[in-house]
Amino acid sequence: MRIAVIGGGLAGLAAAVRLAHAGHRVTLYEKNSHLGGKMNVWKANGFTFDMGPTIITKPEVIERLFLAVGRHHEDYLNLVALDPQWRAFFADGSHIDLYSSLHRMNSELQRFAPQEVANYLRFLSYSHRMNSIAEQWFYWKPYGSLHDLMTASPMNLQSALLALQMDPFTTMHGAIRKHFRDERLAQLFEHFVQYVGSSPFVAPAILCLIAWVQIGLGCWYPMGGTGEIAGALSRLCNEFGVDIRLNTFIEHIETADGKIVGVLSSGGQLERFDAVIANSDIVHTLARLLDAPEAKAYLTKRQKQLEPACSGIVLYLGCNRTWPQLQHHNFFFSADSDAE
Ligand SMILES: Cc1cc2nc3c(=O)[nH]c(=O)nc-3n(C[C@H](O)[C@H](O)[C@H](O)COP(=O)(O)OP(=O)(O)OC[C@H]3O[C@@H](n4cnc5c(N)ncnc54)[C@H](O)[C@@H]3O)c2cc1C
Repeated sequence: MRIAVIGGGLAGLAAAVRLAHAGHRVTLYEKNSHLGGKMNVWKANGFTFDMGPTIITKPEVIERLFLAVGRHHEDYLNLVALDPQWRAFFADGSHIDLYSSLHRMNSELQRFAPQEVANYLRFLSYSHRMNSIAEQWFYWKPYGSLHDLMTASPMNLQSALLALQMDPFTTMHGAIRKHFRDERLAQLFEHFVQYVGSSPFVAPAILCLIAWVQIGLGCWYPMGGTGEIAGALSRLCNEFGVDIRLNTFIEHIETADGKIVGVLSSGGQLERFDAVIANSDIVHTLARLLDAPEAKAYLTKRQKQLEPACSGIVLYLGCNRTWPQLQHHNFFFSADSDAE
């Protein structure tokens, strides 16, 4: 098939690589002059900034992509495990380092909050259990809602048991507060879901799995900066003959009789395709790029779930000295976690 991929972010690059490897003729359109999307790099005055992600968890996702197309990610990327993973500072002036190593984490907790050592181990085991359920049930499948999840996997005794083990009536906040008495540790573990754009008061307990994904499975960094990952995927695209068109904004996905016929670029040029994959934001894609009645109906039905996460402000500071009290990654927690 002739397939267009709109957007050269990580998802678009990964889709293009898999499709080209499977033998399709793939054209990837990116509106920017570079690939990688939010995984962007900025170089200025001798400094290099990772503009987006700096914490890489589950390198297995990268590994699986490379293996699926007959390559080894080690030949393209040098991923190193970070231990300590980051340093957390609290409003009372205290700080704790998060270690993957149980032995080092134990010593750190003995210093920071000795009464919480056993609670930490209990929480890690709970988080590990949540991760195992997710792996078995939905981690590797796309789903947009609980309803999708239920209909995607046939309900049998095994999935009913898994659903119950998910602690379905507890929020992440509730699950964490059940484990920790120390407010600072509770705040730290709740933050795992905040930095993926959700609220611990709303997120289900199953998302406690993030703690295991980071602490248990490790936190990684590609030497040279996270942009190296986008660079490695771009290399794969080139190796599999993906036709990459930079500086090309797709205005519209053209349809006829309810079927995709092609894409219209900002220059007004229509190119024909059998299928289109959009790496662009879903609301933008459905509302602007694809103005079909089915897209509108979907948007109306899912309005609540498709609400955007909150925005953020990022400062990129080039400094002329080092601060020994800082780690490579540092989090500064506010005094009021609920308000935060
Ligand atoms: C400041 C910041 C920090 C982050 N930190 C982390 C972190 O530490 N760890 C982590 O795992 N994640 C982190 N993330 C999230 C991570 O960056 C994103 O989840 C991921 O990069 C999204 O990839 P994507 O391919 O889904 O989308 P995007 O990167 O948004 O890619 C979409 C691409 O489509 C292009 N596009 C859109 N519309 C069109 C169109 N009509 N025509 C042509 N091109 C179009 C865009 O230009 C873009 O290149 C962070 C994000 C930010 C912003």
